[in-house]
Amino acid sequence: MLRYRTVPVTPFQQNCSIVWCDETMCAAIVDPGGELPRLLDEVQRLGVRLEQIWVTHAHIDHAGAVGQLARERQLPVIGPHEGDRFWIEGLPQQGAMFGFPPAEPFTPTRWLHDGDTITLGHCTVQVRHCPGHTPGHVVFHSPEAKRAFVGDVLFAGSIGRTDFPGGDYQTLVDSITQRLWPLGDDVVFIPGHGPESSFGQERRSNPFVGGT
Ligand SMILES: [Zn+2]
Ligand SMILES: [Zn+2]
Repeated sequence: MLRYRTVPVTPFQQNCSIVWCDETMCAAIVDPGGELPRLLDEVQRLGVRLEQIWVTHAHIDHAGAVGQLARERQLPVIGPHEGDRFWIEGLPQQGAMFGFPPAEPFTPTRWLHDGDTITLGHCTVQVRHCPGHTPGHVVFHSPEAKRAFVGDVLFAGSIGRTDFPGGDYQTLVDSITQRLWPLGDDVVFIPGHGPESSFGQERRSNPFVGGT
């Protein structure tokens, strides 16, 4: 079964999650945006073995420490979708704009596509491509654990911003209603910022995508 621990990092309080297979203790870090020492302390405390880096999208608060972590630990970078290539190439400018430490460049080991699967120990996670916030945004879904790591696609009571380059409001709404809702009302999601919620709860009450 897939388990996880969420550690908010960076001044943006981005929900970085450490996920692991509890049979093998193989682990991945989802969206290491910064504060690597804190994240690695937590990995050690949990007693898991870090094997992969997963990236939902390449905004600096989600991907700022991916390059350094991949280099230092020799880890494969899985995701995002290739639509975010320009955001990855723009990480230095993003860092300067938001006052982040300089981000090391990286090239994903594996670009992801809608319908892909990722194996972590004995766990299998499904990939959904959910553009709108960024063109290459992906979501990681564990049907077994009924959990989804959705980055900045959907929040409790809100949805991702669409005013950045490559963002599009209707595309984002379509991603949520056509690619997330079918995963099931009982799926609990871990958003990129703020508290967890479930797809069912948002389907009922979210002011942007409720009633859809
Ligand atoms: Zn973002
Ligand atoms: Zn974010």
